[in-house]
Parts: sequence; C-alpha cells; structure tokens
Amino acid sequence: MKKYYMWVIGCQMNLADANKVAARLEALGYVPTDSERDADVIVLNTCVVRQSAEDKAAGRISSLKSLKKQNPDLVIAVMGCLVGNKPSPKLRERFPHVDVFMPPANPEPLVEFLESRFHERVPEGVSPWEQSLKFQSLEEGGVPVSAYVPIVYGCSHACTYCIIPYRRGPERSRPADEIVREVEDLVAQGVREVTLLGQIVDRYGVDLRREDPSAPDLADLLRMVHDVKGLWRIRFLTSHPSYLDDRILEVVAGLPKVCEHIEVPVQSGDDVVLQNMKRGYTVDDYRRIVEKIRMMVPEASIVTDIIVGFPGETEEQFRHTYELMEELRLDVMHLARYSPRPGTVAARRMPDDVPEEEKWRRFRLLEDLQARISAEKNAGYLGKELVILVERKQKGRWMGRTRNYKLVFFSDDGNWRGKLARVKITWTGPWSMIGKVVGEVSPPA
Ligand code: SF4
Repeated sequence: MKKYYMWVIGCQMNLADANKVAARLEALGYVPTDSERDADVIVLNTCVVRQSAEDKAAGRISSLKSLKKQNPDLVIAVMGCLVGNKPSPKLRERFPHVDVFMPPANPEPLVEFLESRFHERVPEGVSPWEQSLKFQSLEEGGVPVSAYVPIVYGCSHACTYCIIPYRRGPERSRPADEIVREVEDLVAQGVREVTLLGQIVDRYGVDLRREDPSAPDLADLLRMVHDVKGLWRIRFLTSHPSYLDDRILEVVAGLPKVCEHIEVPVQSGDDVVLQNMKRGYTVDDYRRIVEKIRMMVPEASIVTDIIVGFPGETEEQFRHTYELMEELRLDVMHLARYSPRPGTVAARRMPDDVPEEEKWRRFRLLEDLQARISAEKNAGYLGKELVILVERKQKGRWMGRTRNYKLVFFSDDGNWRGKLARVKITWTGPWSMIGKVVGEVSPPA
C-alpha cells in the first residue's frame, strides 16, 4: 500500500488545506503514515507569516535531501505560503530535490504529477472540496471532534506588515452550497464542531454579491450551516473591527449552535500605529465594537491579536496599547513581535527600528498583563458547572472547550471523546481550568 506523510505548520487554514490534499491522495489509493521514512509521498505545508516560521519550513524542506538521495522515487511536494499563488522559479533553484510546488489550497499540481508519473487516476465523483481527517486521526488517536472549513480564501485588505495578500491573493469566497456539503461530509466522518475560516471572515460573499446581489453573506451562511444535522457547534474566525456587523452578532446571539466566541484583532492600541499599519479603524472604533459585542452577546469571549515593536512604535505608543488592554480586559491576547516580511509595504518603507530585546520587553509586559486578566476572569468559574465538548486525552486527562472557548481538563475512566460533558470547576488558572465530570449532556438536534 502506497503511503503519504503530511507535515503542517501555520494557521488553521493550512490544516484544512492539508486535509484536502490528504483526501486527494487517499482517492489515488495512498494511506497516511506518521513516519516520513515509510512514505512514498511527503507533503510539507508551509507558513511565512513571520521569519521564524519561514526558517522552520526551509529547514524542514532541506532536511529531506538525504531521504531523496536514498530513495529517488520518493515524491516531495511543498505547498502553502512559502510557495504562494505563483510559485517562483527561485524556489526550484533553492530546493532542487522538491518535485512539486503547490499554491495554498490547491492540491491539483501534485495530483497531476502523480497521475503522469505513476499513471494513477482519481476516481470519478471525488469532490474537490472534500477533507480527509485520516492523517490527523493518526496524530490525535481518533477522528478529530473539531474541523476547520475555509469559506474565503485570500485577503483584499492591505495591512502594511502582512504578507498574506501577496501569497494567498485577493479574497475569493467559496459557493455556500459547496461549504454546506463539506460540513455535512465532515459530520459524516464524526466531526461535531466546525470553525468557518477567512482572513476577514466577516467579508464572506462580498465578492459573490458583486455578481449576484442575492448571494449570501456570513450571517446567511451561518444559518445554512446551522441546519446541518449532527453538527453541534459552529465557530468562525478571524473577524475585523471594520466588518463585524450587527447581522453577524444577531446570529451569534440567536442561533443555539453558534458559539459565543469572537476573534477580532486590534493589533495596536495607538491610532498613529494603526494608521501606519493601514488597519482602517481607530482605537475608539475598536472600543465600540467590543462594547457592542458585550451588549449583544454578554457571555461572549473576545480574542485579539497584538503586534509589538511595529516600526516607529514609541514607548508612549506602546503604553497606549498596554492601557487599552488593561481597560478592555479581553479573554485572550495572541501576541507577536513585529517581523519584517519580504515585499510588504512596511518592510519596503519602514525601518525595523525597535530593537529585538525591546520587542521582547513589550511582549512580556503584555503577556503578564493578560495572564493576570485571564486568571481573574477564570477565577469567576470556580465551583460552577460548565459544558465542554471533549476533544481528546492530553497527558492522561480529558480536555475540551466551553462554548466561549475556555479550556477545561478532567480525569475520568470513561471514553468521553466527542461527547458533551458537564464539568464542575475545582481549579482555575490563567490559561485553563480543571474540574470533576458530573454528567453527560445530550447534544442539540
Ligand atoms: S486583514 Fe490584514 S492582517 Fe489580516 S490577512 Fe488581511 S492583510 Fe493580513
């Protein structure tokens, strides 16, 4: 039996893309292996959102040179944002041992290569959008309970620090019926929760409505996905302060399967820095969207992203970010140190003038602040009973998440994978909680 090995880094979009390649390889008769040495085909899905990710991908690709030497029939394929929508000839010079370079979310170059090299054929009727969860199941010891479903590829925004539009191209929404069929197929494979993905997920359908004004937007799509039988929970990310509107928040507040969990990056708490980032909103605009979320969906958790050390960021401008986070007390803060990305406006026009150790100092100050805020927020759940969707065992304990994305662990001999458990919280920390299971909860219809 021919085998494939999958290596994935980066965002949730990359994981969903890898599952699509997996489905195509399985349609050609390959099965997943967790050892690159046993593989006939190796696929590396890459990320370049920061220099450290790009270095990791390049190192991993180079590490396969010796395997290729030992086995010249081994097929090595590289995809993702290192390749981008238009694979550059420089990549082939840099990695001559790689057979196929695939743009993000496009497995066809590999399928065509295997069909021509080994005269294999994808049988009729295999849907191009299908995801296979088999290699993930190998890693996780069972079918993943939760899966990611891209709904918009690319991004038409132009934040000055971001390489994504250059590598994934402008925004392209997928047809709603195709997305619904993909969700139905995932539920048939055992998935209970889906997260709809887009760089700016709120802009779903904007491009479709240029052609057909009656095309669905995100609120409509959430309603369509909500009707999928056997699906218990729906999440969506990543939102943008300028596009997260009342229609979307009404659906979060109104539809039982849509979870109270909003990911809306602010990136900085200073208006001058936001202008230099070309984010398209002000700090006050961000305050207003947080206020609106809390008014329309009081139990919602709010997750944000912050970049520290953006070119020119002064101590005072950093203070503004710190004070804004102190004031808003959000649930999670994803932190990143500014990393100049090749070809971006910031890398071309703005010197990376904040020293690395200063970037780390600012990073740690915000990290400590968020640890304090999250610890105080989670302490409020002590003694309470929370319902979690159990994902898997981790270090001997069952782990899962609440609807508002809180991480909870519990110990029990029963098999809780993929079940809804009611857990009484006995310990809380900044990043997770521990509890005692008090019962199973029946899933939504
Ligand atoms: S919204 Fe900005 S940061 Fe997000 S993917 Fe688009 S360009 Fe990048």
